[in-house]
Amino acid sequence: MKTHILGFPRIGSKRELKFAQESFWKGEITADELIITGKQIRATNWNLQKFLDFAPVGDFSFYDHVLDMSFTLGNVPERAQNTKGAELDRFFRIARGRSAKDNEEDTIHAGEMTKWFDTNYHYIVPEFKADTKFALNPQRIIEQLAESRELGVNAKPVIVGPITYLAIGKEKDGSDKSDLLQRIIPEYQKLLDILAENGAEWVQIDEPVLVTELDSKWQDMFQTAYEQLSQPNIKILLATYFGTLQENLATAVSLPVDAIHIDAVRGISEVKTVMNLLPETMQLSLGVIDGRNIWKTDLTGLLNWLEPIAKQLGDRLWIAPSCSLLHVPVDLDLEEKMDEEIKSWLSFATHKLEELKVVARALKDGRDIVKAELNENYQLMLNRRKSMRVNNPDVQRSLLSVLPYMLRRESTYEKRAQVQKNKFKLPLYPTTTIGSFPQTSEIRSTRLKFKKGEIDNTSYVQKMKVEIKNAVKIQEELGLDVLVHGEAERNDMVEYFGEHLDGYVFSEFGWVQSYGSRCVKPPIIFGDISRPKPITIEWSKYAQSLTNKPMKGMLTGPVTILNWSFVRDDIPRFVVCNQIALAIREEVLDLEKAGIDIIQIDEAALREGLPLRKSEWGDYLKWAVEAFQLSANGVSDETQIHTHMCYSEFNDIIAAIADMDADVITIETSRSDMELLDVFDEFSYPNEIGPGVYDIHSPNVPSVDYMVNLMEKAAVRIPEERLWVNPDCGLKTRGWPETLSSLRNMVEAANCLR
Ligand code: GLN
Ligand code: ZN
Repeated sequence: MKTHILGFPRIGSKRELKFAQESFWKGEITADELIITGKQIRATNWNLQKFLDFAPVGDFSFYDHVLDMSFTLGNVPERAQNTKGAELDRFFRIARGRSAKDNEEDTIHAGEMTKWFDTNYHYIVPEFKADTKFALNPQRIIEQLAESRELGVNAKPVIVGPITYLAIGKEKDGSDKSDLLQRIIPEYQKLLDILAENGAEWVQIDEPVLVTELDSKWQDMFQTAYEQLSQPNIKILLATYFGTLQENLATAVSLPVDAIHIDAVRGISEVKTVMNLLPETMQLSLGVIDGRNIWKTDLTGLLNWLEPIAKQLGDRLWIAPSCSLLHVPVDLDLEEKMDEEIKSWLSFATHKLEELKVVARALKDGRDIVKAELNENYQLMLNRRKSMRVNNPDVQRSLLSVLPYMLRRESTYEKRAQVQKNKFKLPLYPTTTIGSFPQTSEIRSTRLKFKKGEIDNTSYVQKMKVEIKNAVKIQEELGLDVLVHGEAERNDMVEYFGEHLDGYVFSEFGWVQSYGSRCVKPPIIFGDISRPKPITIEWSKYAQSLTNKPMKGMLTGPVTILNWSFVRDDIPRFVVCNQIALAIREEVLDLEKAGIDIIQIDEAALREGLPLRKSEWGDYLKWAVEAFQLSANGVSDETQIHTHMCYSEFNDIIAAIADMDADVITIETSRSDMELLDVFDEFSYPNEIGPGVYDIHSPNVPSVDYMVNLMEKAAVRIPEERLWVNPDCGLKTRGWPETLSSLRNMVEAANCLR
């Protein structure tokens, strides 16, 4: 039996890579210094991995491993090919539009970025054209192979496979990227030869696209590719992860590869089938430790399941985490402030290596040899299962008393709209914003001081009230119709609510790479969720007291809170989502009682929870929409519910969004020039909608004409009585000057339209 991992986090336990990257971009350190930091991180990681039969090489990247692969294959977009500077400069130009010390003229447009399967990691999309040529550049991986060998680890190079590489890229000229297969394969062949010459016994070729729906053409491409890649000098481990293979299973096991890795956490149901179909000549790597979550593995439970399998497979078995550990934080031992009990239930990347070690030893030499470790783990699992901090009978009781009527508004939208029209008397094309206003350095420093206990609650509240007052005054002067309090008190739309709910815990160093130097620190849901006391009511009440215009209450929705957290693995996700929904529902009803008549419940991340396979979307959307309904729909007809989603792609889920039955939805559209509204040609969206009229991601001030024009396009599809005018997301990353000018123009645009 062999042990290995598919990849390890590259950011460093204290985000050393992030700080080095950013210093380099600012010109504060040299390329050599950045390169040394990279080398140190790799060395630290490999030193932890010496016990493995195979440690990954090539999982490190200065920005993104897919972009690395583009460079390895020589697929560098034309616009960056002739730029000056070293390879690293070219690399960063594609990654972020510019290199260190570039001046304005040197910037080019960055490669598009998108989500790596269903993770929160974003890669730079490979670009293809009919005439794309590839030219192998194996330098990086060869150097790192040598480096790893010096450290005494048994190296296994890791590369993105040809089919996945093509599948996740984008044609820039309307050509068909599958035509490039015969051009890309020779480069992979050369790469495998070179890896073999450099002493690699195995190569891990990642093909996660095998867990998604593939048509027969793409399935056939697997056959074609791997028949040509198979060669005697190096063995291929074909790695799949993030789900089950299903209809691609037959293809996968028929390929001429030496081993296959499957995700035995998400795909545990498929393991037996895989074993039955696995050719005698093929080895099987089982990803048994969750690479997507931060919980300790139940080692005894795992061994009970794994021992018979190990017996059956003998030395054909490999064990590993389910996927690269890129998606979990690095080092739990750094957490000194975390509640000790909850911490004892968690496992970050370095601990996952330890778990793998224990399982391997138990399989090789019997459980007795790791008796102490297994006993301790057993005890912790038991504690967690039985803990009254995890299980809250009140929450479980409330969930049981949820009845279908609680998901529905009292009346239909038509009826509500009439009631609301008489009540709010809003003009045609009402104007509003999405919630946050610029988070000035003063706001951030006040929040920080409060968090550190440097200022007391009274003076904190005082200072925040000044911000709210200012925001209200500005909105009144601008002439906006529905106001917001500005969210100055919130660091992050999910963390803020997490901090005020029971069942959540926070880490200090639990960072996960989102893209490039950007990391996120998802809060952790460990137990039943409840709301010990009202969260936003006082702020909203205060804001409303300052104006006669309607003040929107501002909440984050249950699905978004769920999708941006690490979620407990002991109950189904939809149950956790419903618990959050009940807590938000209490908040909604309290806001309504406090006289807040318009309440926005943001579902920025609803789309992010979509399963990889379209055939599974229906299930997810059903419970996600129901959770939103549970949170929102307990209000009376007079209360207007808004929701907000920040992406421009919802054609394929529009029916589900309509089912949420929010009175008003605001969405991101401006970057797609309202193209997105095409969906309304076919689907008649029943309620009100505010298609974002300008892009808040850019400091540019949109002109009145520009916004009028966009709204006119919208009005072709949606009756104007149901249109709102608003920016396409919150303004917290913007400065005040451009915010004021943009909103002034926006209000002017609404006036023109009226
Ligand atoms: N209400 C939030 C804000 O305005 C929404 C943020 C988002 O959609 N990402 O900042
Ligand atoms: Zn948004």
